[in-house]
Amino acid sequence: MASVKPEIRTFLCRSDNIGVLIRDPASGACAAIDVPEAAPVLATLEAEGWQLTDILVTHRHADHIEGIPEVVERTGARVTAPEKAREAVPGAKRTVAEGDTVTVGDLVAKVWETPGHCADHVTYHFAQAEVVFAGDTLFTLGCGRVMEAEPQVLWRSLRRFLDLPDATAVYSGHDYVLSNGRFALAAEPDNRNLKDRVAQAERLAEQGGFLIPSTIGEEKATNPFLRVGEPALARAAGLEPGSDPAAVFTALRAWKNRF
Ligand SMILES: [Zn+2]
Repeated sequence: MASVKPEIRTFLCRSDNIGVLIRDPASGACAAIDVPEAAPVLATLEAEGWQLTDILVTHRHADHIEGIPEVVERTGARVTAPEKAREAVPGAKRTVAEGDTVTVGDLVAKVWETPGHCADHVTYHFAQAEVVFAGDTLFTLGCGRVMEAEPQVLWRSLRRFLDLPDATAVYSGHDYVLSNGRFALAAEPDNRNLKDRVAQAERLAEQGGFLIPSTIGEEKATNPFLRVGEPALARAAGLEPGSDPAAVFTALRAWKNRF
């Protein structure tokens, strides 16, 4: 199969949710990743002249699914939801679980179950396009809150992102970049790459933008929750260097909750 590069648009929804459209230029197939709010999704489709064919839901929280009924009514798009969220997602036509394949035209994604933020959370990885839609699992410079599991469950989900190629673009479900950056700097004040990225995020925010997507390589260099094997982060979390990364993760996540 020929290599296909998708067209992707991001836009703010509600107050800090990120709306995303991904389109296969060859077939015209187009998917929304979650629908936090109908109006900005419909406005972007209109502005681009795109036809929505699919909605890929990452998890059942209201701020990711509330716009679905209106968008389905207007576009007829097919809703794909996590199997574990089958009852909660309005109009779910198809459900997916670990290892399933989803296509948007010629674009192909693998489904990962990534529990931790909530039990039903899934991530969509378009390997050939080098794009991953992380929902509320992995954020630019941060990670999701742990709501329905022990912290190590989220750590196991996050660890999977470390195996992706560095060039993979990461789209997260919220713009928490500046507050995540403040915490990251508190945890790892001597990380030069991190200082540069936070400065870049601040410049973007001044212009009304946000540092999304990120890349796996950038996150590996700057996101404290992916750097829990580093001695500096173990020390910052109050643990011995060389401690179990899951324990460092748990301590960092608890610190972030109080931060
Ligand atoms: Zn959520």
